[in-house]
Amino acid sequence: MRQHPPCCLDSTAHGVTVNAKLVMFQHQDITHEIDDDQAWICICDNEPSEDGFYPCDEKGNEVEPVAGWGGRYVCFRCGRIIDPNSFRVVARSPDPKLLV
Ligand SMILES: [Zn+2]
Repeated sequence: MRQHPPCCLDSTAHGVTVNAKLVMFQHQDITHEIDDDQAWICICDNEPSEDGFYPCDEKGNEVEPVAGWGGRYVCFRCGRIIDPNSFRVVARSPDPKLLV
């Protein structure tokens, strides 16, 4: 009587991985250096040591980070406006302006 070795399992028994993540709308998140959530890396590859990120208002114009500030930052290279808590891109300014 022949015996099947135990490794010969039906390969179709493996579950199929399904990406069930629903995309409700196009959103983007920036990333940051591993082990350093201050070292942001924008989708455009801007980093703090390059063009940098600035506290901004909802229009992407630089503001002083004082009372009343919405807590957003703008990437000065591409104008993406970032929520620093979630790293979510919340808007994009075509022409971010800095304080002078
Ligand atoms: Zn950017």
